[in-house]
Amino acid sequence: MQQLWAPWRSQYMKSFAGDAPKQSDCFFCEAANAESDANQEHLVVYRGKAVFVILNRYPYNTGHIMVTPFRHCGDIVELSDEESSELMLLIRIATKVLKQVYRPDGINIGANLGAGAGAGVPGHLHFHLLPRWNGDTNFLPIIADTKVISESLDETWQKLTDGFKSEMNHPLQG
Ligand SMILES: [Zn+2]
Repeated sequence: MQQLWAPWRSQYMKSFAGDAPKQSDCFFCEAANAESDANQEHLVVYRGKAVFVILNRYPYNTGHIMVTPFRHCGDIVELSDEESSELMLLIRIATKVLKQVYRPDGINIGANLGAGAGAGVPGHLHFHLLPRWNGDTNFLPIIADTKVISESLDETWQKLTDGFKSEMNHPLQG
Protein backbone atom coordinates (compact mmCIF):
# COMPACT_ATOMS: atom_id res chain seq x y z
CA MET A 1 0.00 0.00 0.00
CA GLN A 2 1.38 3.37 -0.97
CA GLN A 3 1.34 5.84 1.86
CA LEU A 4 -0.91 8.81 1.31
CA TRP A 5 0.56 12.14 2.30
CA ALA A 6 -1.73 13.69 4.89
CA PRO A 7 0.09 16.43 6.83
CA TRP A 8 -2.78 17.13 9.22
CA ARG A 9 -2.22 13.66 10.64
CA SER A 10 1.00 14.74 12.36
CA GLN A 11 -1.16 16.44 14.98
CA TYR A 12 -3.03 13.18 15.47
CA MET A 13 0.16 11.13 15.80
CA LYS A 14 1.53 13.58 18.37
CA SER A 15 -1.54 13.03 20.50
CA PHE A 16 -0.47 9.39 20.88
CA ALA A 17 3.13 10.12 21.88
CA GLY A 18 4.04 8.32 25.09
CA ASP A 19 2.07 5.42 26.55
CA ALA A 20 -0.62 3.65 24.58
CA PRO A 21 -4.12 4.76 25.56
CA LYS A 22 -5.79 2.64 28.21
CA GLN A 23 -9.31 1.33 28.00
CA SER A 24 -10.58 4.25 30.08
CA ASP A 25 -9.45 6.77 27.48
CA CYS A 26 -10.04 4.62 24.42
CA PHE A 27 -12.21 6.56 21.96
CA PHE A 28 -13.54 3.34 20.42
CA CYS A 29 -14.89 2.32 23.84
CA GLU A 30 -16.24 5.82 24.39
CA ALA A 31 -18.10 5.65 21.07
CA ALA A 32 -19.25 2.08 21.78
CA ASN A 33 -20.79 3.21 25.07
CA ALA A 34 -22.35 6.42 23.75
CA GLU A 35 -26.07 6.70 24.42
CA SER A 36 -26.90 8.32 21.12
CA ASP A 37 -25.34 8.61 17.66
CA ALA A 38 -27.71 11.35 16.58
CA ASN A 39 -25.45 14.29 17.43
CA GLN A 40 -22.56 12.85 15.39
CA GLU A 41 -20.24 13.50 18.31
CA HIS A 42 -18.78 10.00 18.22
CA LEU A 43 -19.03 9.59 14.43
CA VAL A 44 -20.66 6.14 14.62
CA VAL A 45 -22.43 5.35 11.33
CA TYR A 46 -23.67 1.83 12.09
CA ARG A 47 -24.07 -0.45 15.14
CA GLY A 48 -24.32 -4.22 14.78
CA LYS A 49 -24.57 -6.81 17.59
CA ALA A 50 -20.87 -7.08 18.49
CA VAL A 51 -19.24 -4.79 15.93
CA PHE A 52 -19.77 -1.20 14.81
CA VAL A 53 -18.64 1.20 12.10
CA ILE A 54 -17.16 4.62 12.85
CA LEU A 55 -15.67 7.46 10.80
CA ASN A 56 -11.99 8.23 11.15
CA ARG A 57 -11.83 11.71 12.68
CA TYR A 58 -8.50 12.29 10.91
CA PRO A 59 -9.22 10.75 7.50
CA TYR A 60 -6.58 10.01 4.87
CA ASN A 61 -9.28 10.43 2.27
CA THR A 62 -13.01 11.16 2.07
CA GLY A 63 -15.03 8.22 3.37
CA HIS A 64 -12.27 6.74 5.58
CA ILE A 65 -14.09 4.47 8.04
CA MET A 66 -13.18 1.84 10.61
CA VAL A 67 -14.92 -1.41 11.54
CA THR A 68 -14.31 -2.45 15.14
CA PRO A 69 -15.73 -4.71 17.89
CA PHE A 70 -17.58 -3.14 20.83
CA ARG A 71 -15.28 -5.04 23.18
CA HIS A 72 -11.88 -3.52 24.04
CA CYS A 73 -9.67 -6.17 22.47
CA GLY A 74 -6.43 -5.51 20.63
CA ASP A 75 -5.72 -8.82 18.98
CA ILE A 76 -7.53 -10.55 16.15
CA VAL A 77 -6.56 -13.88 17.74
CA GLU A 78 -8.71 -13.10 20.79
CA LEU A 79 -11.95 -12.36 18.94
CA SER A 80 -14.89 -14.65 19.57
CA ASP A 81 -16.36 -16.49 16.58
CA GLU A 82 -19.35 -14.16 16.73
CA GLU A 83 -17.19 -11.01 16.71
CA SER A 84 -14.99 -12.43 13.99
CA SER A 85 -17.81 -13.32 11.62
CA GLU A 86 -19.70 -10.07 12.17
CA LEU A 87 -16.47 -8.13 11.64
CA MET A 88 -16.02 -9.66 8.19
CA LEU A 89 -19.72 -9.25 7.38
CA LEU A 90 -19.60 -5.54 8.25
CA ILE A 91 -16.36 -5.06 6.29
CA ARG A 92 -18.18 -6.49 3.26
CA ILE A 93 -21.28 -4.36 3.81
CA ALA A 94 -19.16 -1.24 4.44
CA THR A 95 -17.31 -1.91 1.19
CA LYS A 96 -20.60 -2.02 -0.68
CA VAL A 97 -21.86 1.15 1.00
CA LEU A 98 -18.62 3.01 0.20
CA LYS A 99 -18.85 1.91 -3.44
CA GLN A 100 -22.44 3.08 -3.68
CA VAL A 101 -21.89 6.41 -1.95
CA TYR A 102 -18.47 7.43 -3.29
CA ARG A 103 -17.81 5.33 -6.42
CA PRO A 104 -14.08 5.09 -5.65
CA ASP A 105 -11.59 3.47 -8.06
CA GLY A 106 -10.49 1.14 -5.25
CA ILE A 107 -10.58 0.59 -1.48
CA ASN A 108 -7.72 -0.22 0.90
CA ILE A 109 -8.83 -2.59 3.68
CA GLY A 110 -6.49 -3.44 6.53
CA ALA A 111 -5.54 -3.44 10.19
CA ASN A 112 -2.39 -2.58 12.12
CA LEU A 113 -1.85 -5.03 14.99
CA GLY A 114 0.22 -3.49 17.78
CA ALA A 115 2.07 -0.19 18.10
CA GLY A 116 5.03 -1.66 16.22
CA ALA A 117 2.80 -2.04 13.17
CA GLY A 118 1.62 1.55 13.42
CA ALA A 119 -1.65 1.09 15.30
CA GLY A 120 -2.82 4.46 16.72
CA VAL A 121 -4.96 2.65 19.30
CA PRO A 122 -3.21 -0.73 19.74
CA GLY A 123 -5.54 -1.86 22.55
CA HIS A 124 -8.67 -1.82 20.42
CA LEU A 125 -8.62 -3.74 17.16
CA HIS A 126 -10.00 -1.88 14.14
CA PHE A 127 -10.01 -2.42 10.40
CA HIS A 128 -9.57 0.61 8.16
CA LEU A 129 -11.53 1.00 4.93
CA LEU A 130 -10.06 3.73 2.79
CA PRO A 131 -11.65 4.72 -0.53
CA ARG A 132 -9.07 5.48 -3.22
CA TRP A 133 -9.24 7.36 -6.47
CA ASN A 134 -6.84 7.04 -9.38
CA GLY A 135 -4.02 9.51 -8.94
CA ASP A 136 -4.75 10.46 -5.33
CA THR A 137 -1.24 9.52 -4.17
CA ASN A 138 0.29 11.54 -7.02
CA PHE A 139 -1.95 14.49 -6.45
CA LEU A 140 -1.71 14.89 -2.69
CA PRO A 141 2.01 15.83 -2.23
CA ILE A 142 1.72 18.72 -4.70
CA ILE A 143 -0.75 20.48 -2.47
CA ALA A 144 0.74 19.28 0.80
CA ASP A 145 -0.18 22.42 2.66
CA THR A 146 -3.80 22.23 1.64
CA LYS A 147 -6.32 20.03 3.32
CA VAL A 148 -7.62 17.94 0.44
CA ILE A 149 -10.60 16.36 2.16
CA SER A 150 -13.33 18.07 0.19
CA GLU A 151 -16.22 16.91 2.35
CA SER A 152 -16.88 17.73 6.00
CA LEU A 153 -17.13 14.91 8.56
CA ASP A 154 -20.77 15.90 9.14
CA GLU A 155 -21.57 15.36 5.47
CA THR A 156 -19.68 12.07 5.37
CA TRP A 157 -21.44 10.92 8.54
CA GLN A 158 -24.87 11.72 7.07
CA LYS A 159 -24.19 10.02 3.73
CA LEU A 160 -22.78 6.85 5.27
CA THR A 161 -25.41 6.65 8.02
CA ASP A 162 -28.08 6.83 5.30
CA GLY A 163 -26.11 4.36 3.17
CA PHE A 164 -25.99 1.76 5.94
CA LYS A 165 -29.64 2.30 6.81
CA SER A 166 -30.75 1.56 3.27
CA GLU A 167 -28.28 -1.30 2.71
CA MET A 168 -29.41 -3.03 5.91
CA ASN A 169 -32.91 -3.49 4.47
CA HIS A 170 -31.42 -6.13 2.17
CA PRO A 171 -27.77 -6.63 3.18
CA LEU A 172 -25.44 -7.57 0.30
CA GLN A 173 -28.28 -8.32 -2.11
CA GLY A 174 -28.55 -6.82 -5.55
ZN1 LIG B 1 -11.44 0.29 23.58
